[in-house]
Amino acid sequence: MRLETDVFVVGGGPAGLAAAIAARNRGFSVTVADVAQPPIDKACAEGIMPDGLAALRKLGVNIPLDAAASFQGIRFSDGESSVQARFAQGPGLGTRRTKLHEILIDKAGAAGIDMHGGARVTGSAPDGVTINGINVRCRWLVGADGQNSWVRCWSGLDSFRTPPSTRFGFRRHYRVVPWSEFVEVYWTKHGQLYVTPVGPEEVCVAFLSRNAKLRLEDAFALFPEINVRLRGADLITREQGAVSTTRALRSVYCGSTVLVGEASGSVDAITGDGLSMAFQQAHALAEAFLNDDLAQYESEHRRIERLPRMMASLMLLLDRNDWLRARSLRALEASPQLFTRMLAVHTGELPLSRIGMEETLSFGWRFLRA
Ligand SMILES: Cc1cc2nc3c(=O)[nH]c(=O)nc-3n(C[C@H](O)[C@H](O)[C@H](O)COP(=O)(O)OP(=O)(O)OC[C@H]3O[C@@H](n4cnc5c(N)ncnc54)[C@H](O)[C@@H]3O)c2cc1C
Repeated sequence: MRLETDVFVVGGGPAGLAAAIAARNRGFSVTVADVAQPPIDKACAEGIMPDGLAALRKLGVNIPLDAAASFQGIRFSDGESSVQARFAQGPGLGTRRTKLHEILIDKAGAAGIDMHGGARVTGSAPDGVTINGINVRCRWLVGADGQNSWVRCWSGLDSFRTPPSTRFGFRRHYRVVPWSEFVEVYWTKHGQLYVTPVGPEEVCVAFLSRNAKLRLEDAFALFPEINVRLRGADLITREQGAVSTTRALRSVYCGSTVLVGEASGSVDAITGDGLSMAFQQAHALAEAFLNDDLAQYESEHRRIERLPRMMASLMLLLDRNDWLRARSLRALEASPQLFTRMLAVHTGELPLSRIGMEETLSFGWRFLRA
């Protein structure tokens, strides 16, 4: 292990690896340490939105289609109404987390990043960290250690703009040719069931809910069409769960310690934006290193999270209110072009200001009649 590095990244999940690659691409020496051994898995709906894919490509990371599946847009359904929209600027991509991790690890290795799996960071000093009992000096310490970030706690950044809230997600994979070119989101009064194509013959099925006791089987019972689709398909992974937390930090840096990915705050998984945000933050962080200005990163971080936070609030409102959800989906079914434009806003392809008054009024009218 190098005893001195420009950037030391604690946590080698997608955010940590992306931040490491972005910094290395800018010429900095980088070390990454993760307690887990690669390839690291995590319960996830496994969709990367188009803006996230663009940020990955900018890092020089390309995901081959033999290990993934493109999706052209998003489809919402509640069993009574359904509406779908295509992305304006090219598809998103579904890929297994383990595959994404392998690809990022390969890229990091090829870029000359000093990687350490099975390595727990146990202490820190003003000029570095202690990892597996060895002191490593660094100029910047990056906390990419996820929801329960040790770096966030240790650096005193555990101060929130609003109280954190949690939901629970479970996922499984099935061997079946994806039946749709969209990520399908099935809304129920108990949560959302996601179906993401993740390979030529594989789908990821995830259920997100406020109730930790609800599992995928409970969601399937509400959607007979999913049961029919998955009948006879091989189940290829065990059900795995994860917590989805909504958390907004007051600040994402302190001195030369800085946070990225879920360690730096998160939006509910309902948006499918977590990975995209992390990949965009990685670029912003590398740029800030170059300018030696972490305040610049903080303001970019705020900009990156603004839209996903707004979308998450809107979607969680629909999650909580059955009446509002049913009416909204009926009204959107009648105004699919508005859904297309909302999706374009969600992925950053269209500024919110471009949703015109006429469209809003037309939606309002359909909502009232729905
Ligand atoms: C149910 C669910 C569905 C989701 N679906 C989607 C989706 O479809 N699309 C999307 O974009 N996002 C989705 N997300 C969000 C996405 O999973 C996260 O945004 C993403 O995992 C964040 O990556 P990260 O690297 O910040 O954190 P993590 O992936 O949690 O990685 C953190 C890493 O830090 C390591 N670590 C922790 N502590 C230490 C320590 N002390 N020392 C060293 N290493 C440490 C861990 O081992 C881990 O590898 C979903 C989330 C959930 C819960």
